Amino acid sequence: MLPVIIWFSLFIPQSYASGHAFHRWELYAWHRLASEQYIIEGAGITIDVTYYTERMDGPYSRSHFEEVAQTTYDHLSSQISIGPGSALGPCFEWRLVVYDVSQEFLHSRSALYWYPWTATRQRLYGVYDSLSADSPNTAVIVLRSDLSAGIHRQTLAHELTHYWYDMCVSDRSAGESYAQSAEELYD
Ligand SMILES: [Zn+2]
Repeated sequence: MLPVIIWFSLFIPQSYASGHAFHRWELYAWHRLASEQYIIEGAGITIDVTYYTERMDGPYSRSHFEEVAQTTYDHLSSQISIGPGSALGPCFEWRLVVYDVSQEFLHSRSALYWYPWTATRQRLYGVYDSLSADSPNTAVIVLRSDLSAGIHRQTLAHELTHYWYDMCVSDRSAGESYAQSAEELYD
């Protein structure tokens, strides 16, 4: 894996930040950590990832994103023929925005106005979205920053598998069983 770092700066003030997936989230005083590009071997694509965090501490998705992205792509491609040369054709390479947020934020229904809430007291570790009208050609992963390192990796693997399924299979289903099986990579 060869990361190509195109832009990096710690804690750019919110007033200079850009690149949010959701217009309303520009109001939150979050920190844009970095934007990076990763070449995913086998997929033949480069993904452009922007990271935002709500807190200055806690596990950052950025520290293990590249490894989990490659591992989950390899895992999905071992189960379904995807990517260059497959009958499904090349994967899309939509931009990804990754948010590390508090438990309170993730469970706020006004903040996650686009999430398809079902149960009244639904508890989440992370979510994936690529459908909101606020985020054209952009996919989003939102993760709780209060998780243990192990659960954080499992949750990132789950949500990244949704991304790969969305980008490479694109059958308008979420690929939930594949996302769940990817959690076992980090048991
Ligand atoms: Zn899922």
